[in-house]
Amino acid sequence: MPDLRGVWPALLVGCAAHLGPPTEPPPKDEGVGATVARACWVEYARDVMPGKLAVAHRGQPEDQDSTQSGLLITGEGGTFLIDGGMAVDLAHEVEGVHGLPRYFLNRASKTWDRLQTPVEAVTSTGTDPASLTAALPTHGHFDHLGGLLDLPDVPVWMPEPEIEVARRSAAGEREGTTPNDAIGVLPRAVSLSMDGPGAWSWSSGHDLMGDGSVLVVPLPGHTPGSVGIRVALPDGREVFLVGDAVWLREGYEEREPKSWLASRFVDDDVDAAGVQVARLWALHQALPDVLILPAHDRRAWLEAFGSPGCVGDPPTPGPEPTTAPG
Ligand SMILES: [Zn+2]
Repeated sequence: MPDLRGVWPALLVGCAAHLGPPTEPPPKDEGVGATVARACWVEYARDVMPGKLAVAHRGQPEDQDSTQSGLLITGEGGTFLIDGGMAVDLAHEVEGVHGLPRYFLNRASKTWDRLQTPVEAVTSTGTDPASLTAALPTHGHFDHLGGLLDLPDVPVWMPEPEIEVARRSAAGEREGTTPNDAIGVLPRAVSLSMDGPGAWSWSSGHDLMGDGSVLVVPLPGHTPGSVGIRVALPDGREVFLVGDAVWLREGYEEREPKSWLASRFVDDDVDAAGVQVARLWALHQALPDVLILPAHDRRAWLEAFGSPGCVGDPPTPGPEPTTAPG
């Protein structure tokens, strides 16, 4: 009797469809104009990402260091925190979550090694959390939105499709955003329009700072209102934080989606998620100097920042709070 342990998961993770190339024209190299004054990598928690689960079709998948991190950026338009990590009170967060999602949330509370809360992380950069203009999650899953419950006075800017997911989660109509995250964030949620300038092959988006240094573009698939955020760093490099569009950089390097099992469990629209992976691959092919930053791939954060910390000017007294994004 052959030892079949490990075969069924290999089948499950290995039978995702191969992605075709994107249908859009290749991304244009627009160059870097205005840059942010300061950008900081703040790290909330660490874990290990199973390579087999994160990327389909890999010959020798290796586990990789995984992170829950945020990007704190200061520019002409204010100071913004991109992603907040998981909730400080995970027991509260898991209330109202059922079935497999509840199992994985409970598991996350044991496997993720928390380093600091969002308040501690922001403060560690010399930034007063009260000075934040807004928080902007790449999407509404617990490990990006939940930590923002720790910053209850900070407006949360999200595209309308992601706010709608939160509304339906709060009403018990669907899963995606955990109900208590949705209930905690909805009163201060502000709709982020996506009819401004885009970046590369993304034709529309939102100019966060008003000077082109930070462009938010829609990446629907993982969730309906997922976004990617292109940031021109003070030193002239460009990073593109892509949330969970891919979990590891092999996704865009090899044009591979998440494993079949992971895609079905975590991606809201598997086909749309595949389209985004193909577009990221095309961007990487055309402009390899752009640092594409999967939210959980710690290697990519290390490549961009070296270690948790900041590039650019030290913080100065923040600008007056801006009005809601139009
Ligand atoms: Zn995530």
